[in-house]
Amino acid sequence: MRRTILLIEDNEQNRYLATFLLEQHGYAVVSATDGPSGIAAARTVAPCLILLDIQLPGMDGHAVARELRLHPELRDTPILAVTSYAMVGDREKCLAAGCNGYIEKPINPETFVAEIELFKPPVPAPPGPA
Ligand code: MN
Repeated sequence: MRRTILLIEDNEQNRYLATFLLEQHGYAVVSATDGPSGIAAARTVAPCLILLDIQLPGMDGHAVARELRLHPELRDTPILAVTSYAMVGDREKCLAAGCNGYIEKPINPETFVAEIELFKPPVPAPPGPA
């Protein structure tokens, strides 16, 4: 089964790099370039994890996270904010808005996928002896 990650990011270069790295590690990536389309995609795709840029045009990432959490089917989906280090106070706001964690921009290609995998939902254990 391929694991699908939803990437909500307005910057084309960032989308390209994140998608490239994730696909290299066997993930399928669905991307959206703004909050409303990202929320719609989350509801139809049922991703195993959502990567959320905070600086988005119109609806910002904090508002997107809060809205995602309103949908019962997305309540337990890990959401990782992607934030600029310079944005003081952003991280606390991300967590308060419902994100599980954050990744610093610019993303580090060497560690990006490993950082994300810390937040992946646990894989169900194989059925053992009764
Ligand atoms: Mn952005």
